[in-house]
Amino acid sequence: MDINSSNIEQIVRQVLDSMNGAPVAPQASGAIPATAHVAMLTGLEKIEIKEYPMPIVGDDDVLVKVEGCGVCGTDAHEYKRDPFGLIPVALGHEGTGEIVKMGKNVKVDSAGKPLNVGDKVVTCMIFKDNPDITMYDLNKQNVGGADVYGLLPDDDVHLNGWFSDYILVRGGSTIFNVSDLDLDSRILIEPCAVLIHAVERAKTTGILRFNSRVVVQGCGPIGLICIAVLRTMGIENIVAVDGEDKRLAFAKEMGANAVVNFKNYSGAEALADGVKDAFGGYLADFAFQCTGSPVAHSNIYKFIRNGGGLCELGFFINGGDATINPHFDICSKEITTVGSWVYTLRDYATTFDFLKRAKGIGLPIEKLITHKYPLEQIDDAFKTNLKMEGLKIAVVNK
Ligand SMILES: [Zn+2]
Repeated sequence: MDINSSNIEQIVRQVLDSMNGAPVAPQASGAIPATAHVAMLTGLEKIEIKEYPMPIVGDDDVLVKVEGCGVCGTDAHEYKRDPFGLIPVALGHEGTGEIVKMGKNVKVDSAGKPLNVGDKVVTCMIFKDNPDITMYDLNKQNVGGADVYGLLPDDDVHLNGWFSDYILVRGGSTIFNVSDLDLDSRILIEPCAVLIHAVERAKTTGILRFNSRVVVQGCGPIGLICIAVLRTMGIENIVAVDGEDKRLAFAKEMGANAVVNFKNYSGAEALADGVKDAFGGYLADFAFQCTGSPVAHSNIYKFIRNGGGLCELGFFINGGDATINPHFDICSKEITTVGSWVYTLRDYATTFDFLKRAKGIGLPIEKLITHKYPLEQIDDAFKTNLKMEGLKIAVVNK
């Protein structure tokens, strides 16, 4: 088996290094170690780095050396409460890395681009039971209903999540060659896809146009990326709403041309006036609600003009009920609302182009990654995420 020859290669390398008196060199591409390390969530708030033998790479499989993976809100929920009942589980779905070995049947990625050892890749959904779905089926399946690496129960392969040094991408998974994107951009693909999807949903209302006045409420990573996506589409009249001046300053860097701190206003009416002032005396044509706060949902209708539109994407998980006045907020104003949740495979592929375009117009997307931790300190990565410090937290392998 190849695994044995890899072992021999590794041993020879170590012996040669020790003869030279040099420290053992880090594994170069192609030199696959005998074991892999996986950050396994074995209990609530308990992650253990486990060591497993490198699995056999089947004819349809791809072995990837992990370079990094973002910590998602979903990961943090799972770490704290295990709402999906997955423990023990190897988390991490916002990952990327380099192909070190491929099965003989693997020739191209899910978009038809050639795949080779050394290429940088990301995964999206796993369609083991539904192999007929391709990215060209557009909205056939939202990732919310599909399997993804990083949210799979543990099995005898163990290399199921991106918080690890190797992951085995099995046949039937979608995989994309993203060698033309840098590491930070690749780590941000997954959260950015959520916004590509939301803006595509918003466009279905027919209200979002080139010169639209757009309000984005909530300047966490999701709201900030929303602003960037709108800017890459040519929409420049953007007002950001948040309660933290630091985040609002970042919203300006990402392309908002005015900001409103809701803490400076008492009551929804006063806040709506603040938004109106920020647009030079107009209400918004379109609003994106990017917080998980029921009060924020209730308020946002007051920011929107008659005949305007709203995309609600902040309630990724159940955040409780919100109160609205159906007459004033929706009916008499004739507001068109859409909901948006995660993304489809097509949105994922569109995101690669968004990231290149954002860079092209000088948006500092990579600044969204505020913290990086090595795999051994993954616990600190989760704790930082749960403290709501920073924006995107990532685990990055050396
Ligand atoms: Zn995520």
